Amino acid sequence: MTRDPIDRTGLRPEFWRRYPLDSLPRNEWEALCDGCGKCCLIKLEDEDSGAVAYTRIACRLLDLGTCRCGNYPLRRQLVAGCVTLDRDTIEGALEWMPRTCAYRLVAEGRDLEPWHPLISGDPESVHRAGVSLRGRMVAEYDVDEDDWEEFVIEEQV
Ligand code: SF4
Ligand code: SF4
Repeated sequence: MTRDPIDRTGLRPEFWRRYPLDSLPRNEWEALCDGCGKCCLIKLEDEDSGAVAYTRIACRLLDLGTCRCGNYPLRRQLVAGCVTLDRDTIEGALEWMPRTCAYRLVAEGRDLEPWHPLISGDPESVHRAGVSLRGRMVAEYDVDEDDWEEFVIEEQV
């Protein structure tokens, strides 16, 4: 089975309900990610409206099996458009982040869903619930940039 890179030891109980997002220590910040990988899908922005459309094309570094970044420590050096989500960037990113994203949910005052690994205790639950696009993505290398529009997904992410 796939490897889960998140260390969930030493987390304060229900920290996402009890402490502000911008006060979370790094281990809790990282643990908040549900591992869906949807923020790592190629997105197309409408030049006129600024609307963002998700495709099912995965960033070249995304591991299609784990839905995790293939080189998280060096991601920004390796992929120019990679956005580091942290307490400084979260507010500007909320608009285009997936609606299911745990950072977005918490920032908007909502609770995590039952399939979140912090609730279920199982990192596979996000995939079983069909929240991630595991099994439905194509690799960036396999799609010509001219064809990206054909891979826009209609569903709300
Ligand atoms: S969309 Fe949010 S929860 Fe999903 S992988 Fe990205 S940061 Fe993590
Ligand atoms: S480089 Fe950035 S966008 Fe690409 S898989 Fe890694 S974290 Fe996601």
